[in-house]
Amino acid sequence: MTVVHLQVGKLRQVVPDSLRYCWTLMSDQTSLGGSILDIDLIDITLACQDCAVVSRVEHDLILLCSGCGSRMVTVATGEEFFLTSLDLAEA
Ligand SMILES: [Zn+2]
Repeated sequence: MTVVHLQVGKLRQVVPDSLRYCWTLMSDQTSLGGSILDIDLIDITLACQDCAVVSRVEHDLILLCSGCGSRMVTVATGEEFFLTSLDLAEA
């Protein structure tokens, strides 16, 4: 069985079942036809520029530091869309 492993950040707003369905359509008739998508959803974390805390976001519309409430944050994780590995079937 061929498995395609992905890391997808929650900020990508990807619906796993929709992505799997689209993958089925796109990969059909290719060498990856019939392969399975294994999707690892990555939590959103923010790095605070004021207090240096890295915190996990509970609600993706509120991007504030959970340590001090600052808006001076950068996204540490959550924007990924990586193909991390392939498990390939033997011929
Ligand atoms: Zn902070």
